[in-house]
Amino acid sequence: VFVLVGAIVLVLLPLTISSYYISLLILLWANVALATAWSIFSGATRYISLATSAFIGVGMYSVAVLHTFIPVWLALIAAALVGLLIALLVGLSTLRLRGVYFVIFTFGLTELIHQMVIWWEVNLNRTLSRFIFVDLSNVAVYELLLLLAAATIIGSWYVSRARLGYGLRAIGEDETVAKHIGINTTRVKVFVFAGSAAIMSLVGAVLSLRYPYVDPNIAFNNLWSFQVLIAALLGGPGVWGPALGAIPLVLLSEVLAGTFPHHFSIALGIFFVLIVYFLPGGVSTKLDGWLRGQTIAWQPKPAAEQLSPIPRASGLAPSTVSGETLLDVQGLYKAFGGLVAVNDLSFSVPRGAIVGLIGPNGSGKTTAINLLTGEVAADHGTALFQGTDILQLDSFEVCRSRVARTFQLVRTLEGMTVRETILVARMFGSHPTTPALAASDVEILLERTGLSEQGDLYGSQLTYIDQKRVELARALATQPQLLLLDEWLAGLNPTELQIGIQLIDKIRREGVTIIMVEHVMEAIRALCDQVYVMNAGELIAQGKPDQVLSEPRVLQVYLGTDDAEA
Ligand code: ADP
Ligand code: MG
Repeated sequence: VFVLVGAIVLVLLPLTISSYYISLLILLWANVALATAWSIFSGATRYISLATSAFIGVGMYSVAVLHTFIPVWLALIAAALVGLLIALLVGLSTLRLRGVYFVIFTFGLTELIHQMVIWWEVNLNRTLSRFIFVDLSNVAVYELLLLLAAATIIGSWYVSRARLGYGLRAIGEDETVAKHIGINTTRVKVFVFAGSAAIMSLVGAVLSLRYPYVDPNIAFNNLWSFQVLIAALLGGPGVWGPALGAIPLVLLSEVLAGTFPHHFSIALGIFFVLIVYFLPGGVSTKLDGWLRGQTIAWQPKPAAEQLSPIPRASGLAPSTVSGETLLDVQGLYKAFGGLVAVNDLSFSVPRGAIVGLIGPNGSGKTTAINLLTGEVAADHGTALFQGTDILQLDSFEVCRSRVARTFQLVRTLEGMTVRETILVARMFGSHPTTPALAASDVEILLERTGLSEQGDLYGSQLTYIDQKRVELARALATQPQLLLLDEWLAGLNPTELQIGIQLIDKIRREGVTIIMVEHVMEAIRALCDQVYVMNAGELIAQGKPDQVLSEPRVLQVYLGTDDAEA
């Protein structure tokens, strides 16, 4: 009811106020729509785009060119489509740039399109401005932009709760992890970047209807990009953040433009610096923290000893390994410059087995896992997994074909809770599903990996063993048939180690085949059916754990390293 009344008031408002306020509110709705559209993509993925003004300009110019040939409403739609198309082209070629390179590129893009339009107009059209012959009242523009702003906020809300929204956030947190849990990061980024660009172009298109004419300098004004960025930063994350940020920004811009007409950009710049300095999280974070009293308190977890009595690892029953080969690696080779990290490595993994991959530090074990999961491209070799050579696949495709991994250096997602992290891995992974359908699986996984109490904690609030558990739970959430563990047991205390060994054994019993890179000899003896030993990139021994671990050349490569406990 509250929302309905609010909406009616906003729709009827222009009938009661002067045209000055209508103009101000038009600017406000435009900025709300722009900042919200911007943050759907840039806020979530942290790809900071300065291309807002490029898309606004494209929208304005599309209308200016097209409205003399086709009806205005059609010109508006066409403008959005032109923005979408340009963003698709640009996105495909540039969204592999990260950080500051992406920022600079998007800034350059605006200037590039700007100059191209000038060149076109001067050389081919022989004019520098185009008249707009549309007789649309301010009130109509107001209503259009109000509608657009509302639709964008609803869209943003919808995305934030959908699978897509979680995918975007995972990309923003750690793109490598995102790929390894089955997210086609390129497609997600390009798709959302283009969608948000279409909204920006539509805003530009509607705004152009108020102008008597459009020229390239009006259309491609970089100020828009910065204003939107400031509004989004000021507002902070969340669905309402950017809209909240747009209100003070529009008011302030109005005041500054009135007070310092000649130094407007400088004043805005100072304001920008002040925000970043004093309000790094934005208004919405402050509000959120204030509403909730404080940030979530760290909850201590019961000590591991109290969980359940754990039998010794040596008490594990022998496993039943099938004769079928699940993974067959042949001639795997990778050199980094002159350093051959993996040299002609061949091994095979029977379905249902736990295979150990061991060797001193720097022997190429992590690189082997990176090669198998598409993180690093192999120079040559094959890795047949159920008939497919997974070396030819992207990381997200490897995940989707049911091979998952953990990372040696844990990569917890700092800005997502444990539950959200498992959820996003479950929703993408090898069996895509919706948030609602994934929820029960997520609870089961939290329970299985001993994270029931930690579901609402963020990555940065976790103890080391719990970060390790999250690594495992996230990999399991993708529903692998083959699980690659990279020193997953390293750094655990003796009690935690026993829990970890039991957990790995349990996972294998549930039908997951495992390759474990490990230094903890106790775990290797207890768990592995077969062990491969690497040294300086080459395979130097293979066989049953007890036999391999007593071979002289294996003992020799381990001598002098602190890692061997054998
Ligand atoms: P392990 O996991 O067995 O300790 P790694 O696979 O991490 O060994 O490393 C094997 C060798 O390859 C090391 O000498 C390491 O410095 C080198 N290496 C690994 N990744 C890269 C990379 N991306 N660029 C250059 N050298 C690398
Ligand atoms: Mg390693």
